[in-house]
Amino acid sequence: AKSAGGNRFELADPEADARAITRHGLTTALPTALDRGEFFIEYQPLVHLGDGSVRGAEALVRWLHPQYGVLGPDRFIPLAEHTGLIVPLGRWVLEQSVRQAREWRERHGAGAADSLRINVNLSPCQLRHPGLVQDTVEILERVGVQPDVLCLELTESALIGADDDLLKPLRRLAEMGIDIALDDFGTGYSNLANLRRLPVSVLKLDRSFTQSMQQFPADPVDLKIVEGIVTLAHSLDLAVTVEGVETGAQAEQLRLLGCDTAQGWYYARPGPPERLHELALADATG
Ligand code: C2E
Ligand code: CA
Ligand code: CA
Ligand code: CA
Repeated sequence: AKSAGGNRFELADPEADARAITRHGLTTALPTALDRGEFFIEYQPLVHLGDGSVRGAEALVRWLHPQYGVLGPDRFIPLAEHTGLIVPLGRWVLEQSVRQAREWRERHGAGAADSLRINVNLSPCQLRHPGLVQDTVEILERVGVQPDVLCLELTESALIGADDDLLKPLRRLAEMGIDIALDDFGTGYSNLANLRRLPVSVLKLDRSFTQSMQQFPADPVDLKIVEGIVTLAHSLDLAVTVEGVETGAQAEQLRLLGCDTAQGWYYARPGPPERLHELALADATG
């Protein structure tokens, strides 16, 4: 109950309190969570819109907190960026993910699964870290996989206005054969002509476009925008991936618009690596 006296600073907001406590708890627990082995990765398949085959997966990190249970990345990635933990955490995610991709390739032998790839999110802090290129090279060598197994995702907003110093490591990675994807594309305000300057080979169309394909007929303006993005992307030799596909109708609409690959609950939720084995195998045999 509120105390009498009308001091507005004493007005209780239990939710804000809970958030503050949680935030404090997370801030103190985060730096050691990596050593304690509390992070794990879920994988969400990337599916070819034309033939439905599984082409790879995106690695999505989670934190199994001893008190709060499983926390999604939105709860702790900003904190990790703020504290600098994102660099060792990002290295850990990268190594786990390429190990997983090597195992998928090995277990499935020849065929479509042979080229399964792994998409890993990269925070702008990691891009600014001077060790990025060397760390990545070392991980690929240690694990024993070719660079073409990897696609690094950076948000459009991370690269808007990026100067040459920031783009240099990205170019190095791209020259090695690593794919670079522009994540959440269409939400920023990047000059489309600017795309030529960036060493990207994939555009990941933001979920908001997928959502607007839900209505039938879809919003004609959004249809035109997606059509325009796909045409431009293809003319620049970029592939288009769509995220957040939740229904067959969305998938069909986006396929008709010329998008190349898709990701979303309609195909599979993010899950343990075994799940991708099953999906890729079902795909290869059936
Ligand atoms: P993102 O890269 O845009 O990842 C896609 C998000 O959409 C994921 O949320 C995924 O679980 C969710 N999603 C997938 N399919 C659907 C769908 O059909 N409908 C809806 N409504 N959502 C869908 P998640 O796993 O919570 O990740 C949130 C964000 O956290 C990611 O957004 C990414 O920016 C960041 N993140 C995740 N893992 C890492 C990581 O290892 N490093 C860094 N730096 N960031 C990460
Ligand atoms: Ca992503
Ligand atoms: Ca995204
Ligand atoms: Ca996002």
